[in-house]
Amino acid sequence: MAFEGLSERLQNVMNKIRGKGKVTEDDVKEMMREVRLALLEADVNFKVVKDFVKRVSERAVGQEVLKSLTPGQQVIKVVKEELTELMGGEQSKIAVASRPPTVIMMVGLQGAGKTTTTGKLANLLRKRYNRKSLLVAADIYRPAAIKQLETLGKQLNMPVFSLGDQVSPVEIAKQALEKAKQEHYDYVLIDTAGRLHIDEALMDELKQMKEVAKPDEIFLVVDAMTGQDAVNVAQSFHEQLGITGVILTKLDGDTRGGAALSIRAVTNTPIKFVGMGEKLDALEPFHPERMASRILGMGDVLTLIEKAQAAVDEEKAKELEQKMRTATFTLDDFLEQLGQVRKLGPLDEILKMLPGANKIKGLNNIQIDEKQISRVEAIIRSMTKEEKTYPEIINGSRKKRIAKGSGTSVQEVNRLLKQFDEMKKMMKMMTNIPKGKKKGFKFP
Ligand code: GDP
Repeated sequence: MAFEGLSERLQNVMNKIRGKGKVTEDDVKEMMREVRLALLEADVNFKVVKDFVKRVSERAVGQEVLKSLTPGQQVIKVVKEELTELMGGEQSKIAVASRPPTVIMMVGLQGAGKTTTTGKLANLLRKRYNRKSLLVAADIYRPAAIKQLETLGKQLNMPVFSLGDQVSPVEIAKQALEKAKQEHYDYVLIDTAGRLHIDEALMDELKQMKEVAKPDEIFLVVDAMTGQDAVNVAQSFHEQLGITGVILTKLDGDTRGGAALSIRAVTNTPIKFVGMGEKLDALEPFHPERMASRILGMGDVLTLIEKAQAAVDEEKAKELEQKMRTATFTLDDFLEQLGQVRKLGPLDEILKMLPGANKIKGLNNIQIDEKQISRVEAIIRSMTKEEKTYPEIINGSRKKRIAKGSGTSVQEVNRLLKQFDEMKKMMKMMTNIPKGKKKGFKFP
């Protein structure tokens, strides 16, 4: 996961100061020395580090901290606020043209993730905002790019506008815009040509396209794994083309995070989205405050809730809640719930979004065994409908049959039944239904 080293180091520094009832100037100096090192090691631009340290130091030895009742906590608050500010402060939203379609040019170097991100963005616009996008294949130089976008379009069940690789990108953009206007698309996402390096020919072509397409946004897609290089690329593109936002990809990898922390400060353009994986739903709007919170180990509950809302079917969730309340929750429901949780993404990533998760020793090294969950699912699937509803009828021979059917052991079946039983007892305790009303309910 990105930021791991930085996050750990900053948290160690914060832990030292957290409980302090009195914070002296020397304490702040000592702390800032460590913060500075941590940021430099995370590959944050040195000038950015210098400014950051200066700002935090000034505030931390100022009145707002010294006069407060919990100076240690107050210093941490300052660090979090400044970290948020460094990454852009407020969340920067995607533009909406006053007259549709909103035109977005996707630019970037080859391999940064531009084509994939074009697909992801269209997917996000549809899922979150119910917006219809036309994908435009204007990268005519990389042989596979058009095909790649067309494949993404098929996966997403979205149209891709292409005129092959013999028509100029500017012409492609022109015709795509016509089509989008006529057919009332909300967004036009143009996948432009990438090169291995920034060169004049590329910039000229992009400038021409900008003239013609008059984009509402020019998003630069950069690879977070390339650290300071990403910052340099962003700066050059910005100077020559004038970008309106950055999409940072591969933040799921173990990047040290320097790019995310420097880009805004160096280029003065906001990071709008971050890529968190190869799948088409792995693009998230970038929230500076939430990211600061994650880095400082304070969790990111809001993103977790949003993920849950996107993944979980609300009707089903209500139904499950009702079942839990009335204690009519069966193993079938449990199976359903496991499926929903899985949709949220890899469980170890999810756990890390919880506040205080960093305090659980070794969480970073925990490999949640997704196979274990598959085994539980297999056990439940091997039961009959009756067994799933009334697990108490599962006797020795039934257990043997279930274990055999699911490729597990009788011990594992026993363990699951015991856990389920305990879960139900807990639900009953929590539901607290008035006695008289319990009658009509079924307790399997
Ligand atoms: P382009 O040359 O800029 O169009 O790059 P592509 O879209 O072809 O992407 C290059 C590679 O990066 C592909 O293998 C993508 O699957 C991968 N990729 C893109 N975004 C992400 C991301 O956020 N996380 C990870 N892990 N891989 C990504």
